[in-house]
Amino acid sequence: MARQLTCPSCGGPLTIESSFTTFLVCSYCGASLYVRDSGIDVTGKTAQLAEYPSRFSIGARGQVRGRGFRVLGRLRYLNADGFWDEWFLQFSDQQVGWITEDEGDLTLVFKSKLTFPVPPYEQLRVGSFVPFGKDQLFLSEKGDAQVAGAEGEISLNAPPGKAIRYVEGNVANKAMRLMLDDHGIVLYTGEPLEFNDVTIAPME
Ligand SMILES: [Zn+2]
Repeated sequence: MARQLTCPSCGGPLTIESSFTTFLVCSYCGASLYVRDSGIDVTGKTAQLAEYPSRFSIGARGQVRGRGFRVLGRLRYLNADGFWDEWFLQFSDQQVGWITEDEGDLTLVFKSKLTFPVPPYEQLRVGSFVPFGKDQLFLSEKGDAQVAGAEGEISLNAPPGKAIRYVEGNVANKAMRLMLDDHGIVLYTGEPLEFNDVTIAPME
């Protein structure tokens, strides 16, 4: 159920589509806003994200492997190699998920419950297997990143400049990513997508 709010910074009308949304960027003034039950708070300004060719955009509708979605937001991270984008999707059944777009490579991921301890970040070696619950995780990448900015609404708090560490790999034929910040570890699991797995409807 969409919520109508007013930007506390500029007074612009804002709509929040997903009940999972906790963070929003005003499309009028660029203010970053925390969404709470009691209302919204300004956290700072988000720089406009430099555009690059992508099929995704805020408000776009499409299908991923036949499942309908709408793009509600975008989050961009910077790391040593450049940047990647995370597109926040709301599916037709209201479930939410993310498509990671990294130099054209797409991965569909969903937040999952981490039900077991993982080895400390420092002990994780890229190119090796590590125990991951009852499975073995093959670690393909790890590193530091920071939030470059966001657009639209998303389901995690991402003020510009927020520092994170990430770990990527494969476990039990699934793509896996851990995102570590001051508040803890969040697990995302999913699957790589081929270009043709995603279709975007023409904008109305
Ligand atoms: Zn505003």
